[in-house]
Amino acid sequence: MSVSGLCEICESATVEDSCKRCGRLVCEKHYDRETGLCTDCLAELGGRPTDDGEKRDYPDGVDEYQF
Ligand SMILES: [Zn+2]
Ligand SMILES: [Zn+2]
Repeated sequence: MSVSGLCEICESATVEDSCKRCGRLVCEKHYDRETGLCTDCLAELGGRPTDDGEKRDYPDGVDEYQF
């Protein structure tokens, strides 16, 4: 059985697998193998394993403090 079609998120890449939670067919990019979820569900559940776009914890105030 082969899934053919386009990712339901980006609609430009071919389907890799379906999300366990919402059942959407998503491409490799929008599918997380570890959880079996699409990136949408991942974001909703607050679990972002490998995406450090905005969430970066850097130490504050330890840069150039010369007085
Ligand atoms: Zn996609
Ligand atoms: Zn989903």
